Amino acid sequence: MRSFVDSHCHVGEAEYDADRAEVMARARAAGVRQFVVTAAGGTLETNRRALELAEREPDCWAVIGVHPHDAKLVDEALIERIRAWARLPRVVGIGETGLDYHYDHSPRERQLAEFRRFAALAREASLPLVVHSRAAADDTLRVLREERVEAGVMHCFTYGPEVARQAVDLGLYVSFSGIVTFRNAGDVREAARRVPLERLLLETDCPYLAPEPKRGGRNEPARVADVALGLAAAIARPVDEVAERTTENARRLFRLPAD
Ligand SMILES: [Zn+2]
Ligand SMILES: [Zn+2]
Repeated sequence: MRSFVDSHCHVGEAEYDADRAEVMARARAAGVRQFVVTAAGGTLETNRRALELAEREPDCWAVIGVHPHDAKLVDEALIERIRAWARLPRVVGIGETGLDYHYDHSPRERQLAEFRRFAALAREASLPLVVHSRAAADDTLRVLREERVEAGVMHCFTYGPEVARQAVDLGLYVSFSGIVTFRNAGDVREAARRVPLERLLLETDCPYLAPEPKRGGRNEPARVADVALGLAAAIARPVDEVAERTTENARRLFRLPAD
């Protein structure tokens, strides 16, 4: 059976409170060996949820930080808490952080400032940075360069081949979500073809972005298998190879144990 790592999922969130055990069981049955549980929002509460899950479930790890949507909520106390939690053994990355100029839920200056602050925190903690970037490619690449981010991932990649090439040149991994299966995402599939096999990751970003063939509705980690099929088709490689290589890559980036 194929093995997968869901390198970015939000299964700690309230959307799964009613049936989390079933959701996780379906994922394990579909071959998901490890879950990188990312804090979804800007509050300590979402970070605490990710941490608790990672501490409770042997196949879950946590990425902690503040989404760019909520950059305006970041204060010193929150940063100090994240800095302290970053030392916990179940924490494998800092994020998701970055820039979202599509929604602009926080002022861009705040997004830029907090992105830099989390990049510095990740470097100081020797943890990879999990980057969210939407409609903000130039500023994202500039900050990554200026902050000398060497280990990290552009998660849920939505750009074309040129941005992918620059991300790879910076030493980053590039992670593809259900978007790679969407009919109108030709540019994203072309980007995937430019990323070397050793830098590709798979994710669901659930509860968002349910892939084809059942687009829409609540997504869940079991569907990483459908993302793998979409990525394999996009880059014209066998799906077994995509599963194997992306699993190795996620374990290398987040320093997860092999099972
Ligand atoms: Zn994101
Ligand atoms: Zn996310």
